[in-house]
Amino acid sequence: MSGFVTVPSGTNYWLRNATVPATLLTAVPEGARVSDDGLTVVDIAIRDALIAEVAAAGHSAVAEGADSLRARSVGGLGGPLEAAPHVNHVDLRRGQVWPCLVDIHTHLDKGHTWERAPNPDGTFDGAIRAVMADRGAHWSADDVRQRFEFGLKCSYAHGTKAVRTNLDSLGPQAAISWPVFEGLRKEWAGRVELQGVSLVPLQRFGTREGEELADRVAAANGILGAVGYVSSDVDALFERLLDLAAERGLAIDLHCDESGDVGARSLSHLASAVLRRRFPNQVVCGHCCSLAVQPPEIVDETLQLVAEAGISIVSLPMCNLYLQDRVPGRTPRWRGVTLLHELAARRIRIAVASDNCRDAFHGYGDHDALEVFREATRVCHLDRPVGDWPRAVTTTPADLMGLADAGRIGAGVPADLVLFEGRTWSELLSRPESNRVVLRNGAAIERRLPDYRELDELLGNA
Ligand SMILES: [Zn+2]
Repeated sequence: MSGFVTVPSGTNYWLRNATVPATLLTAVPEGARVSDDGLTVVDIAIRDALIAEVAAAGHSAVAEGADSLRARSVGGLGGPLEAAPHVNHVDLRRGQVWPCLVDIHTHLDKGHTWERAPNPDGTFDGAIRAVMADRGAHWSADDVRQRFEFGLKCSYAHGTKAVRTNLDSLGPQAAISWPVFEGLRKEWAGRVELQGVSLVPLQRFGTREGEELADRVAAANGILGAVGYVSSDVDALFERLLDLAAERGLAIDLHCDESGDVGARSLSHLASAVLRRRFPNQVVCGHCCSLAVQPPEIVDETLQLVAEAGISIVSLPMCNLYLQDRVPGRTPRWRGVTLLHELAARRIRIAVASDNCRDAFHGYGDHDALEVFREATRVCHLDRPVGDWPRAVTTTPADLMGLADAGRIGAGVPADLVLFEGRTWSELLSRPESNRVVLRNGAAIERRLPDYRELDELLGNA
């Protein structure tokens, strides 16, 4: 795909007139004006694969001429730009520049099975039945690897640099999928950083299989995860899960309350268990849809516990919109998403992510975190003002994944950037930005989305 702008070859050049959401900058440069929409226009110096400097547009050395540039020391990164007379510039004419995107909740092992295992009625139960049957019949190592890698190719081409994926780990599947994950994590290192999370019903952690799975996850340096349901023994099960994780130094990432059931309160039980156990590691919780249908006093109580327990929440708006409140022949009445604004008001960290792509849980999707942000903005009203929401697909998931120099723009961080043609929010979020340019270590990558036909044989479409 050809980009809207051509970036100089080599890794020493300036991006001029770049509009950046100020919330994504490690520091707003001196003299830069931040608009009411939270945008600021800057010049970005790229040097030796890193961002060397971010300056207010027109205030940088580039505007002062090559002589002063040559003599100018670049903050924190060593000597002057020796190649100043040959420094290249590219004028972005105010197109937005974002750090590479971070997708913290996906299911790369399920992805791209739609043609083979469609959801007959689009419901949550229909999805579970379709995926269980497909997994039992087809999920060999080769099958999982090919579909997983298809998803990674999409992510990379769209400008994502880190992905956390759930891995169905029930019964014999753990022994198949975790080695595939470990192999691909190694192969893709430097392009897409991968993290893996186990996915089994919470009840499994009350059994010997749960303990074995915790060992398997620890061996892969993964994250311990489960689907939390409310049951009579939910407190004991959460405590067991937390103990297994604490003993092995593992973080936790759960699916909680992915339904419109007013009685679904596993998030509250989890937060209480985290506080009781003084669990020392990170806890991330996905979905939490049912919060949106519960009475205000119940919501207040739960959010208070979540804040106290330091739990971070991941919302999956595209999948929620697809599955929640779906009854054949009836028009959906609610959007299915959790209470993003109320969570944010309590300073609970929130990320927004893809979830499923082209499988029975979500029949669409292309692993494009910009699409996720665009849809989240529309579904959840993450605008008026946009504020810090761009962090939900960049800085916040990067922090939660322990990637300190990802998801932000500032001097000294790798020049892993996405250049968009759209200047304002309305321009950026109205088109798919298919002509975006992705820089990795300062160099434009070849952006090639894999052809669906690559999977025809695997899916029996040939
Ligand atoms: Zn999920």
